[in-house]
Amino acid sequence: MKAKTLKQNKVNIITLGCSKNLVDSEVLSGQLAANDIAVVHENKKLDHNIVVVNTCGFIDKAKEESVNTILDQVQLKQKGKLDKVYVTGCLSERYKGDLAAEIPEVDAWFGTLELPFILQELNADYKAELLGERMLSTPKHYAYLKISEGCNRTCSFCAIPLMRGQHVSKTMEAIVTEAEHLVKNGVKEIMLIAQELTYYGLDIYKERKLAQLLEKLSDVKGLEWIRLHYAYPNKFPMDVLEVMKSKPNICNYLDMPLQHASNNMLKAMKRQSTREEIEQLVHSIRAANPGICIRTTLIAGFPGETREDIEELKDFLVRMRFDRVGIFTYSHEEGTSAYALVDDVPADEKQARAQEIMELQQELSLEKNQEKVGKVLRVLVDKKEAGRYLGRTEFDSVEVDNEVVIHSTKPLKPGQFVNVHITKAYDYDLEGEVVG
Ligand code: SF4
Repeated sequence: MKAKTLKQNKVNIITLGCSKNLVDSEVLSGQLAANDIAVVHENKKLDHNIVVVNTCGFIDKAKEESVNTILDQVQLKQKGKLDKVYVTGCLSERYKGDLAAEIPEVDAWFGTLELPFILQELNADYKAELLGERMLSTPKHYAYLKISEGCNRTCSFCAIPLMRGQHVSKTMEAIVTEAEHLVKNGVKEIMLIAQELTYYGLDIYKERKLAQLLEKLSDVKGLEWIRLHYAYPNKFPMDVLEVMKSKPNICNYLDMPLQHASNNMLKAMKRQSTREEIEQLVHSIRAANPGICIRTTLIAGFPGETREDIEELKDFLVRMRFDRVGIFTYSHEEGTSAYALVDDVPADEKQARAQEIMELQQELSLEKNQEKVGKVLRVLVDKKEAGRYLGRTEFDSVEVDNEVVIHSTKPLKPGQFVNVHITKAYDYDLEGEVVG
């Protein structure tokens, strides 16, 4: 690789999009480090000469952010501050051809499954023996762990299968080995992620194996919290809840994106469940594990969505009283089956509907938080910010959920568990004092 900048070779990885992308970046940096290539994440110092942008192609806003980031890096290259700009990830997988024609200054484009080729370009060898070892970009005490890649579902709005392909589960042995490595390096909390968690095992073991995987992971010594992200409601494997209840290190937490509740919308979204079935499932989950915290995400403004659909969704939220809710506005994505529909809800109306839903959820969230005042909860300290400590309970995942503002007379360290007496509740957060 010819360097014009006169800098020593150092690779900076910029990651956009979701936690699955972050894991890919961490694997790439682990491989580079093992090849003795200097590598950093999100470097602000500009003492690197090579950039890899790991892009997101999920929805409009994410695509725009990815393209802007590529253009910024290309500009730095044109100013002579970088030698090489490479692009990988979902956006690159989806639009490689068009993008290469539009932004020729990028040195090479790679798809989501082309790690060995990026390494080759960077004069590094792919080291298969590094199974599960990666360079974490998250704080030392937590990490994401991807248990599968791709998705076999056919939700009509979703472009993910176009970019990530069909579902491929990792073996249980590989996942447990990865978890052991992470714990050895100080990780206390692991967030299991996949496009569709509950499908785990169906491809390689010919049956759903999430519960068995959880049993094995819960035996990893030193692993304090295991958290489940992205479960699909149809054919939900109920045995997962038994394991969750019986193993203290599996958080009583389930992230289950439901997308909508009106039957018209669920059908148009090809979600394979009706509102009645989903309500029944939520009741069964809570009956099996009464202490569980359920997080869901929704979509506002899908083609054909009417006022009645929104009212139905609000009614559903009031009845179900989810602990955590996130919402996206619909993005009309080419290549998806919903692209054949007319994207007939104007952008500002989509936004207004999302806002309306979140205002309702805010009230529900405050009520739920108020129920926690006076209780003592186990909290994982994440950081110190503006002179106070911030942490999370087992009911809160990183970045997307609530935080606990912790008051302590003694200094606390990130990654430390403390018992906190909750004294105040806010719309989304809690506040309290360390006890014991
Ligand atoms: S289950 Fe999730 S990732 Fe799979 S198609 Fe549906 S929305 Fe997309």
